[in-house]
Amino acid sequence: MLKLSRYSIGVGDRFAHQARPQLRAFMLAAEQGIAVVPVWNKSNREHTFIGTEPTSVREAALAAVRELNWTKPWHVDADHINLDTVERFLAPSDFFTIDVAHFIGQAPLAADLDAFLARHPELIGVVRIPGIGQPFTTTRESVAKTAGTFLAAVKEAGRIYRHIASRKGEGNFITEVSMDETDSPQTPPELLVILAAIADEKIPIQTIAPKFTGRFNKGVDYVGDVAQFTLEFESDLAVIAHAIREYGLPDNLKLSVHSGSDKFSIYEPIRKALPKFNAGLHLKTAGTTWLEELIGLAEAGGAGLALAKEIYAEAYGHAEELCAPYASVIDIEYAKLPLPAVVAGWTSEQYTGAMRHDSKNPLYDKSVRQLLHVGFKIAAKLGDRYLNMLDSCEESISRNVTLNLYDRHIYPLLVAG
Ligand SMILES: [Zn+2]
Repeated sequence: MLKLSRYSIGVGDRFAHQARPQLRAFMLAAEQGIAVVPVWNKSNREHTFIGTEPTSVREAALAAVRELNWTKPWHVDADHINLDTVERFLAPSDFFTIDVAHFIGQAPLAADLDAFLARHPELIGVVRIPGIGQPFTTTRESVAKTAGTFLAAVKEAGRIYRHIASRKGEGNFITEVSMDETDSPQTPPELLVILAAIADEKIPIQTIAPKFTGRFNKGVDYVGDVAQFTLEFESDLAVIAHAIREYGLPDNLKLSVHSGSDKFSIYEPIRKALPKFNAGLHLKTAGTTWLEELIGLAEAGGAGLALAKEIYAEAYGHAEELCAPYASVIDIEYAKLPLPAVVAGWTSEQYTGAMRHDSKNPLYDKSVRQLLHVGFKIAAKLGDRYLNMLDSCEESISRNVTLNLYDRHIYPLLVAG
């Protein structure tokens, strides 16, 4: 079976220009003795917005891997696919994030629910899980309610998994199931029921992306109760270790944290929790490499800075339509956004200071950062004008892409002692 390494990080490369500097960050980690593998991901929605095909992701990654002589694993993730969208991802991808969040809450067939309850008496009563102080106490009714919420979603994941397996062959790809794009977080007892159901469906799941407590907004820090997150995260790790033993799920099954870039306040709790449960991690970043492109353009000054300002002005003018699809994962203070006329007068330092995620810098402006995060469609519309400028400013962009991924993500998450 194609197995995902213990540590992996999902990286996005919207305009297929940054695979090399991204890969360099993984090489820096290798030099520190940390084996972490890159997974390039791009969702169907992103491909549609930008007008690209999934094969382009594989091609860009492969070129970087060859050029830098990367000999460790790497993968291409069909991110958030379902039965309607998976087709064009089948050939170029070897990692599939099966998104069944929309099926959460749909009533399962009564016969399916009865069969699940009959098969899992161990879920009812006092459920002791090593690593969790307080046992879960459940009743037939409470388990029926949880199964009633998630069983239809898991059945759908099974259908999608079998469809992919029928085309690619079993064992030739990595399977993730995601439930993060929904309103309420899944609790550790719910995760246990979900994993039991996934085992029943015989999905060889290697990563699962639940929705965690707190807000995982795009490109900014975690917003929520870090102590509560830590408790829940550690309980999830305990549940996974238990489910691997109890249900025979793949022994490398691990959590996948979506929209994981820039969640600086939870990296240390995550880093400390993993060894306690001998657990791995998949962290999917939120397409923030594109922000490093803007930072690199601004840092280059001249025409690069001018284009970065033009993109801000356009994004400001179309803020409403750009933000609408992401309303639930951004928090912008629109009244505080600087006017384009003001930004037009900014120096390189002012622009990069506003954009770069350094909350200690008084110039940092998370509303500007979030607006531009969703503003990639503006750059996509510029077409070759934007892509050619990426080439002209390659030095400053590459430097920022590598530094962001290594210094601000890989290092605090997996290396810092
Ligand atoms: Zn997600």
